[in-house]
Amino acid sequence: MSLSYVTPSPSSPWSTYLSQVERVVPYLGPLARWAETLRRPKRALIVDVPIEMDDGRVCHFEGYRVQHNMSRGPGKGGVRYHPDVTLEEVMALSAWMSIKNAAVNLPYGGAKGGIRVNPQELSQKELEKLTRRYTSEIGIIIGPQQDIPAPDVNTNAQIMAWMMDTYSMNVGATATGVVTGKPIHLGGSLGRVKATGRGVFVTGREAARRIELKLDGARVAVQGFGNVGSSAAELFAQAGAKIVAAQDHTGTIFNPNGLDLAELMPVVRAEGGVGGYKNAERIDNEAFWDIDCDILIPAALEGQITAERARRTKARLVLEGANGPTLPEADDMLADRGILVVPDVICNAGGVTVSYFEWVQDFSSFFWTEDEINLRLDKIMVGALKKIWDTADRHHITLRTATFAVACERILMAREERGLYP
Ligand code: NAD
Repeated sequence: MSLSYVTPSPSSPWSTYLSQVERVVPYLGPLARWAETLRRPKRALIVDVPIEMDDGRVCHFEGYRVQHNMSRGPGKGGVRYHPDVTLEEVMALSAWMSIKNAAVNLPYGGAKGGIRVNPQELSQKELEKLTRRYTSEIGIIIGPQQDIPAPDVNTNAQIMAWMMDTYSMNVGATATGVVTGKPIHLGGSLGRVKATGRGVFVTGREAARRIELKLDGARVAVQGFGNVGSSAAELFAQAGAKIVAAQDHTGTIFNPNGLDLAELMPVVRAEGGVGGYKNAERIDNEAFWDIDCDILIPAALEGQITAERARRTKARLVLEGANGPTLPEADDMLADRGILVVPDVICNAGGVTVSYFEWVQDFSSFFWTEDEINLRLDKIMVGALKKIWDTADRHHITLRTATFAVACERILMAREERGLYP
C-alpha cells in the first residue's frame, strides 16, 4: 500500500527512488519478501522551528528529520537548508543514505534532515537560532548511537558546531559524536571537507580506467560549484583534466582550454558563485548540457539530468556528485547511448565514509593524519566500486541497479537476521 502522507509527482525524488527500488527487486532472491521495508521510511519527524528575527518579528520554519532504515546501525545523513525542501525530498534523500551506507558497508542506516528556508536571507545570528531550535526539536531522535547528522546543501562546519553544542547542552555532556563534519578542533576529521569530492574523483578515476578514458587532458563539465563540485574539480584538474565548464545558481562559465581554478576559487568564495568570474565565456545555463566534454559531474540538486538533457550530452562518463541528479528515463537514455553513469549512491559516498572515520575518531579520542584518512577512503571506495562492478557484470545491469543490489541485500539480510519485533 502506498503511503498516505505523500503523493509523489512522477519526477519527484521519492518517485525516482521508488522506481530504482523496483528495478532491483528481481535481483534480491528470497530477500525480496522484505522489499516493502525499502519503500517506507521507518520514522519521519516534522518540526516547527520558530525564531525571533533581528527586527523583532517571529518567523516559523518547517523542519524535518527522516530515518529511512536503521537495520544496520544508527541513522546517518546530512541536513539541508533550502527553500524548496519538502518532507518527500528528505524521505528520498534519507533512503539514498540507507543505500549508500550499505553500499560502502558502513555500520549505519540512512537518515536525512532539512529546513525549508533560504539561509541567504538570514543573518548569522538568525541562522544560529534556527539551527539551535531545529536541533532541540529533533533532539528526541538524534544522538551518537541513534542518528548522526552532517552537512549537506547550505550547511557547513559552523552549523555542525552549533548542532553539537545544542545537543550537548540538552544532554548535559559534550557529545562530539552526535554530528560529523565539525570543525577540526571540535572533534572534526582532517579530510572531511573535501571527502565527497575526493570520492567522486576516486570512483571517476576507476571508471575512466575501465572505459579507457585518459584523465590527462579529459574535458570535465561540473554543475554545482559548492563543496562537492569544486573539490572534485580541483582533484580532476590535478590529474591533468581540463575543467571546461562550471555552472551554479549564479550562472554558467565556459573555457574550452580549461578554467584556471586557482583564479576561479577565490572569486567563488568572495562572491558566492562562479557568475562573477570574468576570465571565461558566460554562456546560457541550458547550453551547459550541450558542451563538448568527456566527463559530466552533476553536483548540485536532484532531477537535473532529464531525458532531453541526457539525449544531448556529449560526455562518455557521468559522475553523480549530487544526490538523485538523474531522472529514471534519463538513466535509460544514458544507458541506451552507452554513456556510463557512476551513480550517486556510490559516487558521492566519500563524504559519509570520512564522516564515519570522524565518528570513530571521536569515540576513541584518537585522531588520524590526513594521509591516513585519504588512503583509507581511497581503499574503501575502490573496494566498494569493484564489488558493484562485478555485480553489474554478473547480472548485465547498470552500476546503479548493481549498487542497489549490493546495498539492498545487506540491508534486507540485516532485517531478516534481526527478525521482526515483537
Ligand atoms: P553546497 O551548498 O556546497 O553547493 C551546492 C551547489 O549547487 C552550489 O554551487 C549552488 O550554487 C549550486 N546550485 C544550487 N542550485 C542550482 C541550480 N538550480 N543550478 C545550478 N547549480 C545550483 O552543497 P554540496 O554539499 O556541494 O552538495 C551538492 C550536492 O552533493 C547535493 O546534492 C548534496 O546532497 C550532495 N552531497 C553532498 C555531500 C557533502 O558532503 N556535502 C555528500 C554527499 C552528497
